[in-house]
Amino acid sequence: MLTDIEIAQRVKPKRIGQIAAELEIQDEELEPYGRFKAKLNDSLYRRISDRKDGKLILVTAINPTPAGEGKTTTAIGLGDALAKIGKKVVIALREPSLGPVFGIKGGATGGGYSQVIPMEEINLHFTGDFHAITSANNLLCAMLDNHIQQGNSLQIDPRRILLQRCVDMNDRQLRQIVCGLGGKANGVPREDGFCITVATEVMAIFCLAKNLSDLKKRLGNILVAYTKNGEPVYARNLKAEGAMAVLLKDAINPNLVQTLEGTPALVHGGPFANIAHGCNTVRATRYALKLGDYCVTEAGFGSDLGAEKFMDINCRLSGLKPDAAVLVATARALKYNGGVPKTETAKENIAALKAGMENLGAHIAGLKKYGVPVVVAINRFESDSGDELALIERYCHENGADFALSEVFAKGGEGGVELAKKVCGAAERESDVHLLYENDAPITDKIETVAKEIYGADGVTYTQQALRSLGEIESLGGNQLPVCIAKTQYSLSDDPKLLGRPSGFTITIRDAKLSSGAGFVVAYAGNILTMPGLPSHPAAERIDVDENGKISGLF
Ligand code: ADP
Ligand code: MG
Repeated sequence: MLTDIEIAQRVKPKRIGQIAAELEIQDEELEPYGRFKAKLNDSLYRRISDRKDGKLILVTAINPTPAGEGKTTTAIGLGDALAKIGKKVVIALREPSLGPVFGIKGGATGGGYSQVIPMEEINLHFTGDFHAITSANNLLCAMLDNHIQQGNSLQIDPRRILLQRCVDMNDRQLRQIVCGLGGKANGVPREDGFCITVATEVMAIFCLAKNLSDLKKRLGNILVAYTKNGEPVYARNLKAEGAMAVLLKDAINPNLVQTLEGTPALVHGGPFANIAHGCNTVRATRYALKLGDYCVTEAGFGSDLGAEKFMDINCRLSGLKPDAAVLVATARALKYNGGVPKTETAKENIAALKAGMENLGAHIAGLKKYGVPVVVAINRFESDSGDELALIERYCHENGADFALSEVFAKGGEGGVELAKKVCGAAERESDVHLLYENDAPITDKIETVAKEIYGADGVTYTQQALRSLGEIESLGGNQLPVCIAKTQYSLSDDPKLLGRPSGFTITIRDAKLSSGAGFVVAYAGNILTMPGLPSHPAAERIDVDENGKISGLF
């Protein structure tokens, strides 16, 4: 069997100008980055902004195993399948981060016969967006420390700096550092730490900004530190937002690429799905909705994190509204949720599957609370047995969700035709899509609503630290904002070991942070690493390039 990169390298992509022409994008609206990538500029959006939106399809999943359940693969394959049945479709996805590419998980360009290409370039430097975001964030950091060095007229307390430097790499060595050492000329010593670029607020802002002026305003609103008297200091107090926006001005234009089958895809932005909202830029989704009759997009992790934030943060702040949700599940992950160890999930096990399907039930029920029609897509693995698949199908029907087997990994768009038809049917149905809570509910009520309605918790407990932070956030006017709960992706609860559909638990909020530029309050349920580490054998050890520049080992 061929690897993902081998499959991708055997396909001859169309020139990006041709993909654009098929979407009736005009020459001056396209900024080519080489032959197979391009950015779409503002003049395009101005021309098409009055068009009616296409249907928005959100791809989400059950609680995953550590390998991922195939959301990106399914989103790409569904896009190809919709194209196959004659729909005009544009896919909208996140950009991969170098952290997972060189770490455990690998790239984020799909798999098998459902990939976006050129996969090497998309997974590596692509069009430089992450470089621009890293630079904008680190410029703000440099200006902040320089302000302290140059006399600190704002009276910033070096012990209460919230902002962190970033790098797009899994590098635990940088999690906690001491910097500014070396005497008077070399800065003011303080404790600091790095986060990975995708975990920065600049990334979240990049993904939520409507346009350049909205971007600049949000950058200026980043809360960077407190003064010695406890007053907030924002990026605008350091006069940083103009220069930061300069660094991002080209990056905010969506990137156009294609699937293995030549379906257009906008791959743009990539925020974390725990401490941020986990979906591609609003701009890419908006362009896709104007350019196609269907836009397929993906939200990170399971629906408890990804879809909840897609609705309660992304849709709330942008006005987007999905017409249907595709809930991706695998027989493997359902068995894993039923208590089977990760290494045993390829074996048929009806009892474990039955137990694990409770998890699927919880995700169907959660999505229904938003009024969005649900189609369950079983991402088929070679090891799945016919009896297992039949059982899952029956369970979906009993729980009021459409069902389709998806074989897009093995067959490309052809393997997703049934899914595509079910999705069209669901998206055409009359639906009453709505959000879970009101803007002006207190933050603690918002957290409780999500915990009870989506996670199935009995309630929420708060540490002293969390209550202190929430009080401070309230005094800064954060009560009107949606809440972004940072939680493990492996469980509906805040304990990664509680699989299936746990009950009788509470979640504990340990701390909270105001992302005032992005426009949400992060509530931490557990310790969430914003700087991952590499495993004992990182994927990087297997990645290589030959003398002709041909890359191997990427997946
Ligand atoms: P997610 O977006 O949910 O994290 P991905 O679509 O990135 O998941 O898939 C995760 C990994 O699993 C990828 O390496 C992909 O190639 C692989 N994969 C996905 N679907 C299948 C399948 N049906 N059979 C085998 N491998 C698959
Ligand atoms: Mg993905």
